[in-house]
Amino acid sequence: MTQTHNEEQSLEALYRDVLFEHYRHPRNRGRIADAQIVAHGDNPLCGDCVTIYGKLDGGGCFEKVSFDGKGCAICTASSSMMTQAMPGKSLEEAERLAGRFRQMLRDEVPFEAPPEAPDLEALAGVKKFPVRVKCATLAWTTLKNAILAFRAGKQAGETSTEKE
Ligand code: ZN
Repeated sequence: MTQTHNEEQSLEALYRDVLFEHYRHPRNRGRIADAQIVAHGDNPLCGDCVTIYGKLDGGGCFEKVSFDGKGCAICTASSSMMTQAMPGKSLEEAERLAGRFRQMLRDEVPFEAPPEAPDLEALAGVKKFPVRVKCATLAWTTLKNAILAFRAGKQAGETSTEKE
């Protein structure tokens, strides 16, 4: 066994620890009652389903993002990390980060995790298992869909009169 091989193995073990830590103690789990941005996403390949909630501040940036639902370890860890990365980001910044993250897993594009969510790099290992890539991207795709739906709703003039 070479030194490099050992290093790779310990790195993989470390990533696994990071993933399982998020799986066992997911951040920002649960519904946000007054979220303006909501979408549901499914990954039938694995049985993952998540709902993403986003609350915007006065300036149109994410104040808080949360997730709810049932997913495997990769899906749950990825959702947890996604919610950590979003506060303070504008919708455009959130879309850009989601796009870069999905590209990393699909096209093997190098990815630098933002400082507010350094654990995201642990998900890079998922690309070695193509069948699990959807587990890792589900929360991000769902967030993008939620943003699109939010914009479409705004353009439609938001005729909803729902009040709390
Ligand atoms: Zn899954």
